[in-house]
Amino acid sequence: MNVTYQNIKGTFDILPDAQDGSDAPIPGSPAWQYVESVIRDVMARYNMLEIRTPILEPTPLIARGIGQLTDIVAKEMFAFERGDTQYVLRPEVTAPVMRAYLQHRLDQRGGVQKLFYIGPCFRAESPQKGRYRQFHQFGCEVIGSPDPRADAETIALMMDVYAAFGITDLRLRLNTLGDEQSRPRYREALQAYLAPHADRLSETSRQRLRTNPLRILDTKDERERALLAGAPRLIDFVDDESRAFYEEVKALLDLLDIPYEEDPFLVRGLDYYTHTAFEVESDNLGAQRALGGGGRYDLLSREIGSKQAVPAVGFAAGIERLLLELTARGLPLPGIPAPDAFLVALGDEATRWVFATARTLRRAGLRVALDLKGRSMKAQMREANRQRARYTVIVGKDELAARQAQVKHMESGEQVAVAFDALAGFLLEHRAAVAA
Ligand code: AMP
Repeated sequence: MNVTYQNIKGTFDILPDAQDGSDAPIPGSPAWQYVESVIRDVMARYNMLEIRTPILEPTPLIARGIGQLTDIVAKEMFAFERGDTQYVLRPEVTAPVMRAYLQHRLDQRGGVQKLFYIGPCFRAESPQKGRYRQFHQFGCEVIGSPDPRADAETIALMMDVYAAFGITDLRLRLNTLGDEQSRPRYREALQAYLAPHADRLSETSRQRLRTNPLRILDTKDERERALLAGAPRLIDFVDDESRAFYEEVKALLDLLDIPYEEDPFLVRGLDYYTHTAFEVESDNLGAQRALGGGGRYDLLSREIGSKQAVPAVGFAAGIERLLLELTARGLPLPGIPAPDAFLVALGDEATRWVFATARTLRRAGLRVALDLKGRSMKAQMREANRQRARYTVIVGKDELAARQAQVKHMESGEQVAVAFDALAGFLLEHRAAVAA
């Protein structure tokens, strides 16, 4: 077929079937549903409640919330204006969730709000394997608790999502960013250390040196890493209270037997993070090896206009990278489900009977397929085969007269006559027997 339009680069269609993407395979929708259901299940066990916020947010929420001139604001947003409103396609979900928390006064519900989300995010990055312009994040936000147990629980939840898929050997990197006071002190020290070596920094890092120097710590560039080996360390700028908080988070992770690696250079991209920062990595993903990350963001609420600081901690992780990880490990993902029955009709009267019976069987709970193109019986059988139907139910003149269908088990080829009245029961029973 002649194709006039294609999807935008860095986005992709999720088809019922897996397909070859330009950089990596794109699993079919049944695999996405499965992954999402496992995530929802783990979220439920942690007593997380789902929140769904709009894809469109006011740009200043993100621009201010994420701190002026940080990377997301500078170049990674899809933003536009209509009338006098500025819109942005959300690049992440933390700021939107905090907006919703403040807007709906969820603080007044008492206790801690534990919210999770699954949904698309948008960033204007250059696409490559594991990096897209529309991608999907799942994550949680624990809002209202200043307690290190909220941090440890968030990390445990994230690790348990991967564990639920059978992935238990990921690398968890951990660091503390200290509090509101220690961050600027460290920022200055880092700037002072790096400034004389600015000529050895990449263009991006030189810019970050002015706007967001902590991001340079994240660099993958060998020369920059060598330079950073002698850089001041965040932990030396952290006060006793923040240090005790960090020690408690680590003790709680030990209590839960969750291994971690301390990484003094681990930072989060955004300015509102304090204390705990963590990232989960895999060796299977090439350049984009972060599966997800998170941390405590006690400063966000004030950045987006709240008078009070609202203590909060959360994580965000990519579904595409999780799917890449599952694929790399050869872990099974469900494909297109097979119908319980494909109804095959021979003749006009049988075609009408099949059409009506399909609905009866569907209302009984069965996955039922039938021909919608007026094909020959042979072609219908072929289609039933292609769809891997468990049974075909074959009805022609004789079957109508006898009020019983020929029911063929496709795999074995075994065929039995089943009375029309008993058809739903037969198919349900045999489906159950297979599933058990
Ligand atoms: P971040 O908010 O940048 O820490 O992102 C959290 C997680 O979302 C990352 O660890 C990735 O798994 C995923 N992610 C972020 N950006 C992208 C992207 N452009 N494409 C695919 N996944 C992404």
